[in-house]
Amino acid sequence: MKVEQAPRLATIEGIAMRIKCPWCGDRPLDEFSYSGDATVRRPDEASAADPAVWQDYVYLRDNPTGRHIEYWQHAGGCRSWLIVERNITTHEIHTVSLANPQQRESE
Ligand SMILES: [Zn+2]
Repeated sequence: MKVEQAPRLATIEGIAMRIKCPWCGDRPLDEFSYSGDATVRRPDEASAADPAVWQDYVYLRDNPTGRHIEYWQHAGGCRSWLIVERNITTHEIHTVSLANPQQRESE
């Protein structure tokens, strides 16, 4: 007896999220890997000697709501790193761009 499986649908909180990769087009969430907050910046040279600054940079993250800018990788596709502006509450995608400026220049 053949057992059919329902198609797998990648969701976040029951919402089928899709990301439009600049190279591959509109793709399902399960092809992407979330890679963190894209707004965090490495400490500048003037503050780099302070261990508390490094602790904040490495370990502390905000827990925002609404629009947020994140790194995602199209791991199941072209493997490009992307900067995605997403509403964390509704999972609506606002903008998607390539994270690597050199990749953009070589288009
Ligand atoms: Zn892609």
